[in-house]
Amino acid sequence: SSITNHLPTAELQALDAAHHMHPFTTNNELAAKGARIITRAKGIYLTDSDGNEILDAMAGLWCVNLGYGRPEMGKVAARQMDELPFYNTFFMTSHVPAIALAAKLAELAPGDLNHVFFAGSGSEANDTNLRMVRTYWAQKGQPEKSHFISRNNAYHGSTVGAGSLGGMTYMHEQGGLPIPGIHHINQPDWWSEGAESNDRDFGLARAKELEAKILELGADKVAAFIAEPVQGAGGVVVPPATYWPEIQRICKKHDVLLIADEVICGFGRTGNWFGSQTMGITPDIMTIAKGLSSGYAPIGGSIVSDKIAEVINACEFNHGYTYSGHPVCAAVALENLRIMEEESIVEHVRDVAAPALADELTMLNEHPLVGGVNVSGLMASLPLTPHKESRARFAGNKGDVGFICRENCFANNLIMRHVGDRMIISPPLVITPEELKEFGKRAKKALDATY
Ligand code: PLP
Repeated sequence: SSITNHLPTAELQALDAAHHMHPFTTNNELAAKGARIITRAKGIYLTDSDGNEILDAMAGLWCVNLGYGRPEMGKVAARQMDELPFYNTFFMTSHVPAIALAAKLAELAPGDLNHVFFAGSGSEANDTNLRMVRTYWAQKGQPEKSHFISRNNAYHGSTVGAGSLGGMTYMHEQGGLPIPGIHHINQPDWWSEGAESNDRDFGLARAKELEAKILELGADKVAAFIAEPVQGAGGVVVPPATYWPEIQRICKKHDVLLIADEVICGFGRTGNWFGSQTMGITPDIMTIAKGLSSGYAPIGGSIVSDKIAEVINACEFNHGYTYSGHPVCAAVALENLRIMEEESIVEHVRDVAAPALADELTMLNEHPLVGGVNVSGLMASLPLTPHKESRARFAGNKGDVGFICRENCFANNLIMRHVGDRMIISPPLVITPEELKEFGKRAKKALDATY
């Protein structure tokens, strides 16, 4: 990178446009505009190739929970590369970083979630879940119990399996998704439906949709329900408190496994180690990635209960990735968890950063463009509306209001993402109250410019 860093921005942009196909991007549009090129980062600030300092209120892609530039992480990676850069965990072998990380995750995870199947990413982990859960029921003599229920607008990854579990119609339209046997119900999006964040009946009604879908398909056909404790890329939808306990009750009643996709919520984001704890549930499987290594190395996995492991461990599960439990990634993840414990990052989120973010959101909610607040710990969304009372949607030129606001954030050296007409906030968990004040100032300027 020291070589490319010395090229002028325009040359980097030209090379990027000529050779690099970006994810979730219209590449021709990007080529015309030129990518913003990030060269360095420290704490919560990114530096671009023109020397701008940008406050990253998205922690990269909801993952750099420890913040950028922690030297311990690089040291651990280098040491592990010297000692054992790679070995696999197939064919009756194992290695120390994978063993230690699996044991650590079993200690941190709630309930009897004591077993870890590693993957390289959240998408891969959700593909593992699809195959593992179907294998579980087949091994128990119920191969027809194979259908999955997920939610509209959910994001569970981009592979064929994970993209099918997801409920993004614009993804389904490309490449023949979803695969058969996957069904979607509504998300508990109280704001869009004119309800309030603490609306008990709304939470229960949305949860009851799961039961209706199970009864429609037949409980003997439904293998699992998958959802994020707080839906992230679907727009940070924080359900009313009644929602999740009712979901858990319905899953238990109909013998449907509950998979909590903790790829974003896991590792402190909601003010507990896992979003499931914040929502008061104990799932059968948790999907993890992102915050597991604070994004310093690609690693994900599925943490599964004793009940599931007992069945899967009794057969050969014909599934795995070259990089399942990659020693360097596992060592980096272990170091990440060590720092999180040593520096009480989860407590910092709960007791310091989340209240400070809530103050900033209260201030931003006074803005005429902002229609309300969804927040859990350090993940939040602000829906934009031309009319607070009716929660109307923008039309015409301002139909792209989220995109326009994101560009205005860029212009004010702030990264906020938008999902449709919602602005999304998910900063590094180490963010301080002073830094959150700076976030609030820049966000307000971006909203003013959008109004
Ligand atoms: N699940 C959730 C909830 C996610 O937010 C994501 C990524 O954004 C994934 C799964 C997929 O993870 P990855 O991009 O590591 O494959």
